[in-house]
Amino acid sequence: MTDTRTSPRRIYGDFAYTRGPIEHCYWAEAVPEAALAHAPVQGRAACRVAVVGGGYTGLNAALALAEAGQDVMLLDAEFPGFGASGRNGGFCCLGSHRASDARLRRFGPDGPSEVRQAEAAAIAHVEALIGRFGIDVDRHSEGEVVLAHSPRAMEALRRHADEFTRDFGAEARIIERADLAAEGLYSPGWYGGLHTPLGFALHPRKYLAGLVAAAHGAGARIHGASPVLSLSQEGGKQVLVTPSARIEADRVIVATNGYTAETLLPWLRGRFLPAQSSVLTTRRMTEDELKAQNYTSRQMAYEDRKLLHYFHLTPDGRMVFGQRGALLSSAANEAKVAATVRADFEAAFPAWRHVESPHHWSGMVCLTASLTPFCGPVPGMEGVFAGFGYHGNGVAMGSYTGAILADLALGRAPQALLPKAFAAPPPRFPFAPLRRGYLMAEYAGAKILNN
Ligand SMILES: Cc1cc2nc3c(=O)[nH]c(=O)nc-3n(C[C@H](O)[C@H](O)[C@H](O)COP(=O)(O)OP(=O)(O)OC[C@H]3O[C@@H](n4cnc5c(N)ncnc54)[C@H](O)[C@@H]3O)c2cc1C
Repeated sequence: MTDTRTSPRRIYGDFAYTRGPIEHCYWAEAVPEAALAHAPVQGRAACRVAVVGGGYTGLNAALALAEAGQDVMLLDAEFPGFGASGRNGGFCCLGSHRASDARLRRFGPDGPSEVRQAEAAAIAHVEALIGRFGIDVDRHSEGEVVLAHSPRAMEALRRHADEFTRDFGAEARIIERADLAAEGLYSPGWYGGLHTPLGFALHPRKYLAGLVAAAHGAGARIHGASPVLSLSQEGGKQVLVTPSARIEADRVIVATNGYTAETLLPWLRGRFLPAQSSVLTTRRMTEDELKAQNYTSRQMAYEDRKLLHYFHLTPDGRMVFGQRGALLSSAANEAKVAATVRADFEAAFPAWRHVESPHHWSGMVCLTASLTPFCGPVPGMEGVFAGFGYHGNGVAMGSYTGAILADLALGRAPQALLPKAFAAPPPRFPFAPLRRGYLMAEYAGAKILNN
């Protein structure tokens, strides 16, 4: 039997799947692992639906199923929120795919508009949950701001402003370079920006903990320290094996995203590409320190470039600053990446060079070869469903996908819009065992072009 935690069939080193990368995670100060830990499932067990993975996708699925009166069991290899959902940047935003409109039109003339509607609905879904369960997520930011790192990027933003307003029916607003300081959004390297009014920022682990409480409250059984080592079908039942239990279920939802082992399901092998994202958080800054940089806005923001930086000031004045780009995972590499993120932070905000950043961490986002998320039945495995591949933006879309997976597992049409592009199974990456090479090429190209 293969242990999915140490399987060589994962494409990064073992360190990525340990607690090493989250040893200094800022979000854990408010919601420590102890608050999320759950006992492992033991012995023989049965349930109607088993959910594998306790991030936003799995928890939303478990919550919706429990609310529908189903006997649901959620299993996480470590603890709910161990994966990306407990360590992300806190942007509840659009952007779950990277497909061009031309590509989305392969799914029909309404392909692009379906995806946009679903992305906006995903934000509304999270907003509704937070409201319904009264989850205090330190909400801030009205929409988000895209910042141009070159005059050319600013011209592209001007063109994009009209498209956004037309596509989302919500007015995007250009911020001229000369007005950035007045908006409290200044860095010497920016040529202007675009405010798009959809989305908001949140404390990712507070949202996660709220989902755990809501799912518990609705009757879901939640287990940590329960890695699913194998999933098979016997006598019309789904059989899940963990180190300490054998579970029989009628349906299974796989919600393991960037933490999926190649060995969990043959169909999944080679169909997802985990990519690392790394974040730092500064200590709390005084209003005077914030003003020294002319950066006081609590808007969430990112630079419109391939190797983007994303950042926002928390309500209490800490800068959360993240980026993609690490290709290796080890303790030594983690330190190197933290130093790179710090150097980029200092370059963007020179007035904060003296401000310590005691917190830094990293984790896995998940890409697909179709450049869109997947949400649907696993081909060839009746009763098994999966949702993954949010392209680094799964706070909203992972949550929304989880709720749709619950409908699919219940055998009913999704209550929310499932874009045809997301229902189509993604192909395998060509030369799948070498697929980290795609990231290598992308990152190298972006560095050469300074994009
Ligand atoms: C550093 C970072 C910053 C990010 N910033 C943002 C952001 O600002 N906004 C945004 O929208 N998105 C962001 N993302 C992406 C977002 O966090 C993810 O898309 C989203 O959390 C995915 O949720 P999930 O539930 O599908 O997967 P995850 O949260 O990754 O959960 C998967 C879970 O599956 C469990 N698991 C794996 N294998 C097994 C098994 N065999 N048995 C049992 N359990 C298993 C893992 O332990 C894990 O807890 C970021 C991600 C990272 C890493």
